[in-house]
Amino acid sequence: MIPTHYIFVTGGVTSSLGKGIISSSLAVLLKARGYSVAIQKLDPYINIDPGTLNPYEHGECYVTEDGAETDLDLGHYERFTNVFTSQANNVTTGRVYKTVIEKERHGDYLGSTVQVIPHITDEIKRRIEILGKTNEYDFVITEIGGTVGDIESLPFVESIRQMKWELGNRAVVIHLTYIPYLSAAGELKTKPTQHSVKAMLQQGVQPDIIVCRTEHPITESIRSKISLFCNITKDCVIESIDASTIYQVPLNMRSEKLDVQVLRKLNVQPKQEADLSQWEDFVYRLNNPKQEVKIALVGKYVELHDAYKSISEAFIHAGAVLQCKVKIKWIKAEDLEKTENNAFPDDIQGILVAPGFGQRGIEGKILAVKYAREHNIPFFGICLGMQCAVIEFARNVLNLNGANSVEMDKNTPYPVIDIMEEQKKITNMGGTMRLGSYPCDVKKGTKLFEAYHLERINERHRHRYEFNDAFETQFSDGGMIFSGINPSSDLVEAIEIPNHKYFVGVQFHPEYKSTVENPHPLFVSFVKAALSVSD
Ligand code: GLN
Repeated sequence: MIPTHYIFVTGGVTSSLGKGIISSSLAVLLKARGYSVAIQKLDPYINIDPGTLNPYEHGECYVTEDGAETDLDLGHYERFTNVFTSQANNVTTGRVYKTVIEKERHGDYLGSTVQVIPHITDEIKRRIEILGKTNEYDFVITEIGGTVGDIESLPFVESIRQMKWELGNRAVVIHLTYIPYLSAAGELKTKPTQHSVKAMLQQGVQPDIIVCRTEHPITESIRSKISLFCNITKDCVIESIDASTIYQVPLNMRSEKLDVQVLRKLNVQPKQEADLSQWEDFVYRLNNPKQEVKIALVGKYVELHDAYKSISEAFIHAGAVLQCKVKIKWIKAEDLEKTENNAFPDDIQGILVAPGFGQRGIEGKILAVKYAREHNIPFFGICLGMQCAVIEFARNVLNLNGANSVEMDKNTPYPVIDIMEEQKKITNMGGTMRLGSYPCDVKKGTKLFEAYHLERINERHRHRYEFNDAFETQFSDGGMIFSGINPSSDLVEAIEIPNHKYFVGVQFHPEYKSTVENPHPLFVSFVKAALSVSD
């Protein structure tokens, strides 16, 4: 074990360059060399966490084992590295200020004036060092959200400056930037990068490595220019060209020697060459599918695919296992309400009803379940998707007219989905759902068991409502089975209809745990079932 080294990743010129993917790719390379790596994201917004943010604002809210509601980049970290993240891996300005203000109220600052520097920056540094102080990691990669030059990221950049000064060559700064291509001039341009490095220099931070996001290969002269004007040795100018899949990026970063340069800058003797054979095999299978399958993803926020990031990535992982291309047809739940069942094209081989909150689109989701059930099309319902399957079954099989979730209709005559007892008194919205990992007992002889081959599983949750067990006998008599049950609370965690090709609903979120190394068994079994439709 070496002392923990700190790698900071900042972004310049524009947002959405993929700092999360670059950070994750570097982690993959360092891990493949035998080092232990943690990745962390610092978000400069004032929300305590993204749990209360509308998915249109911020994409998916990712949930960790310990029940933290976090930025979707943490999903990339886990998918790439196969290492669990936690609350410590996502820090927001809101969380930093909350801690400092609570300490001030508690009298911990002993009468001194509480200021951005040093109190806020000290708290940021403390949160960066938390992971390092566990002595579990050789490297902590800290990604700074937003773009250098933003007012809100100033305290973060200042914290990096101080840490770099204090840690010497145990810290390195990678600046991810954009090299635009002007087609009229037929040229790549470095000026925006020069400006963003100048902005960093004004804040006292000299980047050590520049990663250039580009749509075209960067030429030697571009590398020389960036080197000369940004004070970076030429071998530390790294090209990151658009890739057909994000999973190609670690391979590209290896060719560009990003890991080699990072180790060199940190004065760490490379342990071994990165063995990426498993990763290469995964990318090969992804790029060379032997068949194709079309899955309808029915959701409320489908205009923004990022709202379902972990689900679409889990499909990619399952596709790689089965060497098949999973084509997602995004279907807006509300649209189904207008067109009844006709909205499903004939070639759909599977229907997934997505998680979600609130009334909008709920009836469309229920129609999607009905269509899947009646047409014997493989169905997979996640969280709200499972709840919709329960409501649909109640209404159309058990003839419980007006059955609903209490979330949608407080006065429903048949509250088949009810609020959980411990949720009833809660008034604060942030961080108060049933969150994080819970055990679940799997009934043998079910699709769930066929997928996992385990009697006890652990999956992550994010919900307030649950299957109402007052209806259990009625549902069992009607032909629905409860294939997953929480061992201590008896909450229903999974339902199935056995006399159907594949009809599975889960109260938990399997998508959060699908990784390149461990594609999720439920996604694999669902895609397999969908593939058999065209047989
Ligand atoms: N809105 C539902 C609940 O709170 C489902 C949540 C979800 O799909 N994540 O129970």
